[in-house]
Amino acid sequence: MKTRFAPSPTGYVHLGNIRTALFNALYAHSKQGTFLVRIEDTDLARSHNDYVEALFEDMAWLGIQNDEGPHHDHGFGPYFQSKRADIYAKYYEELEHKGMAFPCFCTEEQLALNRKVQQSAGLPPRYSGTCRNLSEALVKQNFQSGKTATLRFKVPTGKTIEFNDLVRGVQRFNSNDIGDFIIRRADGTSSFLFSNAIDDALMQVTHAMRGEDHVANTPRQILIQQALDLSSPMYGHLPLIVSSDSSPLSKRLGSWSVREMRNLGYLPIAIINYLARLGHNYESNELMPIEELAKHFSIDALGRAPAHFDGQQLLHWQREAIAKADLAKLKEWLLPAIQDKIAIEHEDAFIALISHNCVFPADATAWANRLCADEVNYEEECAEIVKNTPAEFFASAIEAVNDQGIQYTAFMDALKQKTTLKGKQLFQPLRVALTGVLHGPELADIMGFLGKERIINRLEQAKNREF
Ligand code: GLU
Repeated sequence: MKTRFAPSPTGYVHLGNIRTALFNALYAHSKQGTFLVRIEDTDLARSHNDYVEALFEDMAWLGIQNDEGPHHDHGFGPYFQSKRADIYAKYYEELEHKGMAFPCFCTEEQLALNRKVQQSAGLPPRYSGTCRNLSEALVKQNFQSGKTATLRFKVPTGKTIEFNDLVRGVQRFNSNDIGDFIIRRADGTSSFLFSNAIDDALMQVTHAMRGEDHVANTPRQILIQQALDLSSPMYGHLPLIVSSDSSPLSKRLGSWSVREMRNLGYLPIAIINYLARLGHNYESNELMPIEELAKHFSIDALGRAPAHFDGQQLLHWQREAIAKADLAKLKEWLLPAIQDKIAIEHEDAFIALISHNCVFPADATAWANRLCADEVNYEEECAEIVKNTPAEFFASAIEAVNDQGIQYTAFMDALKQKTTLKGKQLFQPLRVALTGVLHGPELADIMGFLGKERIINRLEQAKNREF
């Protein structure tokens, strides 16, 4: 069993196409199969090697491992389509020899005109067959006069093409609805329809999952494979990801590349758990490592309904991922955001203190600023709380620190006694005075991190508030 992901390296991978990669990987690994990555770079003008490198880097960061591909040759390479021209040449020859492909000399202008005529007659635009039956002599003459030609596949007439889609069930197409399509461009490069079909067969792909936007390509690709006596994989077309209001994923969301999400501070395991459930139903709502997601992946759990992108769900998995991460992971994640603010010897303590109050690394930076600044910066509501708390409260707190030190229970008992306050009236002004905000880590831990001197400074600031 072999699945594949076959991206065209024309940009950074975004949520939509990395989900396709993930599903193919999970499916292969649920069956002890092979997950192949092939680079479809026949469109030389739009393909860039930087995007290929970025793709493998992004996949590695997400933990999506391919078993076969450019870095893991299983004897079916090269895995870059731009390096497979010799292989394709043989199959073009075979099709021409069988009379199943023909050169087309139509210019772009002619084709556009044809399309217009068909549209105004209410017909779907389809190649009208101008060059389908040119005589050998005319073909020769055209070439001799220096004309260039594309190569078109001669679609057989009156044929039903049927395939059993892994997601959508049986799909039927009538070949009469399919115009003769281009399999080799005028510049000699192969078209997507052709190279993709040939490579799936030659690389012995057994299952190909891809976006629903490819459904109409499938009968064409099956026709190519049949014409060349090649095998076809089973195809599965995944519903596209749409915005929460069912409109196609907006530019903004759709342009969320994996690296953008990484820069924003999303954790890879959160993205993986989110995407794995976008169009696939898992019984468990637990955060799972990718191996577990693979173990429980099932074709039957794939949905046919459009997959709705939900930023809140993504945040849910982000929080789950943080809750489950160990200190080493959290440190790797947060260190760049705090490194220049926290002394090395305090890094671990600081990260342990604030990590569960962070959703993104920027939150850790905010906590570093909050806890390390000389002056507390009160949020608006908090300034009010300090203002409404009698200065004596903070004076008592300073006394309690001086008498008892900063051991939390002893300090609190002393403060309670001095002020006769309890509950929110006791804790809230204290928290606000020490941090400037209403919520955060346990007060005991905050005090431990701040240390006596800073605590006293902050209580002084609250006592002498100048607003
Ligand atoms: N290169 C094609 C794309 O990126 C692959 C489609 C497919 O998976 O067959 O859309």
